[in-house]
Amino acid sequence: MAAPIAAFWLRRDLRLNDNQGLFKALQSGLPVLPVFIFDTEILEVLPDRADRRVSMLHDVISQLKAQLEARGSSLIVAHGNPLDVWPLLTKTYNIKKIFLNRDYEPYARQRDQAVFDWAKKMDIEMVGAKDSVIFEKSEVTKDDGKPYTVFTPYSKKWMARLTSEDLAPAPSENHLQHLYPTAPLPLPSLESLGFQYTPYEIGTGQPNANLIDNYHETRDLPFIKGTSRISVHLRFGMISIRAMAQLGLAHNQKWLNELIWRDFYQNIIYHFPHSAHSAFKPDYDHITWEQNDAHFQAWCEGKTGYPIVDAGMRELAATGFMHNRVRMITASFLTKHLLLDWRLGEAWFAQKLMDYDLASNVGGWQWAASSGCDAAPYFRVFNPSLQQDKFDKDRLYIKKWVPEYGTAKYPKPIVDHKFARDRAIARFQEGLADAKNSK
Ligand code: FAD
Repeated sequence: MAAPIAAFWLRRDLRLNDNQGLFKALQSGLPVLPVFIFDTEILEVLPDRADRRVSMLHDVISQLKAQLEARGSSLIVAHGNPLDVWPLLTKTYNIKKIFLNRDYEPYARQRDQAVFDWAKKMDIEMVGAKDSVIFEKSEVTKDDGKPYTVFTPYSKKWMARLTSEDLAPAPSENHLQHLYPTAPLPLPSLESLGFQYTPYEIGTGQPNANLIDNYHETRDLPFIKGTSRISVHLRFGMISIRAMAQLGLAHNQKWLNELIWRDFYQNIIYHFPHSAHSAFKPDYDHITWEQNDAHFQAWCEGKTGYPIVDAGMRELAATGFMHNRVRMITASFLTKHLLLDWRLGEAWFAQKLMDYDLASNVGGWQWAASSGCDAAPYFRVFNPSLQQDKFDKDRLYIKKWVPEYGTAKYPKPIVDHKFARDRAIARFQEGLADAKNSK
């Protein structure tokens, strides 16, 4: 029988430093072999074989593997359903423990529970850790123990609870001598995963302190790089949330607040998993959405005739990123001006965003559609023209992404602002009245 080992299952924590689960594994007394699974349950439903995120993941995994190999270990890179992969791995390796960092999304929880049930039968211990958020589950609740559904009191409690221990690094990088020694293991090619290489740009993931110092002044201006651009790095754990929160605490409360929003939405998806696919406030499921493929198509392609909306949608298509202010404007436009179901927009963003994160995306979309936990009121309908006057006064952002802006080639608005606003308010009122009557 091969010598007993511990496995460390990497998922949204793709780094060797300051990694809680890896730190625990390396202290377990067993040699640690890291594992990454290209999960077919996730990959097979991606509609685009030229998905930038899969190219990025493949690169990041290949770099991690090289780092581990420089230490005399390696990384098992599997391709399949984790429920099939784990039993197969136990045929080659004598795995006694599996360490992992917790993931709070509904699919991940169900998957991890299934692997846990299997591991229990096999007498393999599964050990979870908190790594991707500062506070999880019920660590920040109202005084009666119930989860917060409004951000401001949540953020106050979050701040009040915070101690230096919550931000202390887990120095996994200092214990890598406990990795399992092995010859390099194979890496499946991107093509064998069913994808083609697609260039992407994600920056360094290392925000500069100067930018963070000025964040409160630059955060709403889409034509400059006034935000940190770390979302994709946080999403896949190439950087540590604890290190980022330290930076926020030292430099800018406004920026730290954004990281608290991220924790807040992770908490919401954990406690209210129904909100992934239906209205957080069920009354809003009574709204009758328009059915209009042509309008949805125009929105996706950035051809609505509303320049700031079109610029955002084209930035998204071209880069996989969209500025937060413009995410709010485009989401409001889809759900209020076009009166299309927020789930259509959520799914489109899910397909395109490099930083796509179920909790934050659903949170952002339900905020815009007014159906979310701490959402914009339904009668608040962003005026895209006023938004662009305020946040892109000189049209620098618009001209960058919509070169035909101001020429005869630019499309006419697909819907009139005043008509759309009145229609949205009336339709939301009808839906909410219907919800009341059906109680
Ligand atoms: P910064 O402004 O520098 O903020 C720092 C970090 O704080 C971000 O990287 C992010 O992790 C977090 N953060 C900032 N704003 C929010 C927010 N409103 N909610 C939650 N976390 C936040 N963010 C995602 O990471 N993934 C998504 O899929 C996503 N979808 C969104 C959809 C809509 C409709 C809206 C309105 C917002 C969405 N956001 C999402 C939140 C936000 O737009 C992005 O996190 C931000 O634009 C990323 O840029 P940045 O890293 O430069 O952020």
